[in-house]
This record gives sequence, structure tokens and C-alpha cells, in this order.
Amino acid sequence: MALATAIGACFTGFGCGVAALLFAQRQRSLPSTSTSSSRPSDPNQTVRIAQCNCGQLQVTVTGPDPERISLCHCNLCQKQSGNVFAVQARFPKEQVAIKGISTVWKLAKDEADQLAYRNCVSLGGGGSFHFCPNCGSTVWYMADADSARIGVKIGCFTDPTFPPPKLSGFEEYMHPWAMEAASLAVQHMK
Ligand SMILES: [Zn+2]
Ligand SMILES: [Zn+2]
Repeated sequence: MALATAIGACFTGFGCGVAALLFAQRQRSLPSTSTSSSRPSDPNQTVRIAQCNCGQLQVTVTGPDPERISLCHCNLCQKQSGNVFAVQARFPKEQVAIKGISTVWKLAKDEADQLAYRNCVSLGGGGSFHFCPNCGSTVWYMADADSARIGVKIGCFTDPTFPPPKLSGFEEYMHPWAMEAASLAVQHMK
């Protein structure tokens, strides 16, 4: 396992200077809303912004809905998200622009294989997870076996209209109530 710091990766194919400029222009043109998505008439040009809690680490994705949206119950995802399961999507690199500083937690496949529990990072051939060094949110990642795409943690979009998962895995680690949360007998906070 290894940690490193990354400053604003660039995957637009234009070079980072141009990408930063495009990002700034895009930011100015976005409406100020409580959620982080903007849907023009052309669904292939949907702009979505994922960001950490403090806002300095941002991932802007422009394009159609992603093909791969996955829900994972593995213990690694539980520990990483601090929640009982994780949901993430992968976008083609050319649709992604990243701004801000991240700390990288890199877990190679041979290290993932040695963990005490089966996990999706092992399936993905190892991975690099980028989290905000200020507030701790993990916002984006790369699976070593899928270098053409950038993964984004869906919670960082704070967009309830984001499409639901199409894949699910590691159900043997599932908390029995997790997929039935809406039917729990709970008192509702206001
Ligand atoms: Zn942050
Ligand atoms: Zn997982």
C-alpha cells in the first residue's frame, strides 16, 4: 500500500492548461443549484460535478450516463466509504476533468489478494484511490485493469437523480437490512 499526493490530474486530452481553462469556463456557465448536475437538451452533454465535503477536490464529467455503475458490499468498500456499501461509476477519461489536490492510496493487486476478505480491488487488478487531504472524502479512483476509465464515487455528486447501479457484488458481506432501508421501522430526523 502506498500514499502519494496528486495535484489536479487532467484527462481531457487537451493538456492541463487548456483543461483548467475549459473547467473554469464550464464552472461559470453552470447554474447554482443544490445538486451538482446540469442537463441540457442533449443528454449526451450532461455536466456532472462530484466534489469532496470541503469542495477543493472536484471531478467534472461531461457526457452521457456511464455504462458501468456498480454497487459493492465488500469489506474494503465498507471501510473506505465508512458505510455499509459503496456505489461508484466509471467514465471514459476523455469525459473527465479533475481539479484540486488529492492524496492517493494505492493498493496493488497482490496486496489486495492478501487481505483477510475478498474484495473488488483484487478483481479490478489493483487500484488507486484519491481522497481529499483536508476533509477525507474519497472522490475518484482508477482500477489498474481499466486504465481507459476514471471511477467516481456516486455520493460525491449529491444528485439523487443519478442513474441506479447496474452491477452488484460481494453480497456475502451485505448487511441484511441494507437493501431494504426504506422499509425500516425508524424514527425520522428532521
Ligand atoms: Zn475536501
Ligand atoms: Zn468493493
